[in-house]
Amino acid sequence: MGTLLLKGKPVSDSIRLALEPRVQSLKKIGIVPKLAAIIVGDDPASQVYVRNKARAFEKLSCESQTYRLDSKSNEENVLTLIDRLNNDPSAHGILVQLPLPNHLDSKTILHTVSPNKDVDGFHPENLGLLLEGNPNFIPCTPHGVLEILRHYDISVSGRHAVIVGRSNIVGKPMFALLAQKFEMGNATVTICHTGTKDLAAYTKQGDIIIAAAGSPNMITGDMIKEGADIIDVGINRVDDDSEKGYTLVGDVNTESVMGIANSVTPVPGGVGPMTITMLLVNTVKSAEKCVELVTGW
Ligand code: NDP
Repeated sequence: MGTLLLKGKPVSDSIRLALEPRVQSLKKIGIVPKLAAIIVGDDPASQVYVRNKARAFEKLSCESQTYRLDSKSNEENVLTLIDRLNNDPSAHGILVQLPLPNHLDSKTILHTVSPNKDVDGFHPENLGLLLEGNPNFIPCTPHGVLEILRHYDISVSGRHAVIVGRSNIVGKPMFALLAQKFEMGNATVTICHTGTKDLAAYTKQGDIIIAAAGSPNMITGDMIKEGADIIDVGINRVDDDSEKGYTLVGDVNTESVMGIANSVTPVPGGVGPMTITMLLVNTVKSAEKCVELVTGW
């Protein structure tokens, strides 16, 4: 069986193209969608993520402003900034880059972001609305997965989707989307985690497998059924003697599933490019909501 590589870039490009006229319509009435990104400390990976996000916003003629706080900032410093941005009408989206330094309580901080500007979709109100089937902002990575499935015409309804990972940012919202009664959902969903006994017994039953465990190469060809569609969310750094000193690998051992799976997303270049694109989608949507002009997604 030939296994199709589900690349994220064409999906991401077509969504960004569809956003352009929406951004132009907003500009005509004097609104520029704007993201306020907060980064605390100097974690190198976080710096890269925030820079990439800023670049994507510029490319789409949107704005992004990064607020850099010292790693020793206390909770009050962060909450005061969030409060200011919650009340700033020019900021349509607020993003707190994770992970936060250990002395800060992520939950308290994320809960302070206004649900109306929570373009990451992490606020409990938005997660609740998603579970209810009436989403406001959908978390970017699971939303990106759905758009990949849609773009490549991979049917979901009536199939068995097995998710590996139950984080609040990937696994749980992915479950809420795939199990939902709507055109890109309606799957029977199993969610696996470290408490799952005999993981392979479940993955072998998956028509669709969503790997989001953060464990390099853990899903291998002998753990999947023939014809499965596999979405690899994992992005893991594996140290090696290459020039960079590491290689990025997914949670799926791609080589071993080739010829068995119907399709698989590559790492890098699969789900990765989708996350920032869906952040753009949510920020444009937030700007449109200010003038009751939402036209898509
Ligand atoms: P978390 O560490 O928050 O969650 C990992 C989940 O996987 C947990 O629920 C954990 O179970 C489960 N898990 C870990 N190891 C195993 C195992 N051996 N068997 C079964 N379950 C396991 O990670 P995230 O959800 O934040 O991220 C997951 C991966 O996706 C990471 O590689 C991350 O880098 C990547 N990612 C990629 C993004 C993108 O843009 N493409 C965006 C976000 C994340 P338990 O709950 O029991 O601990």
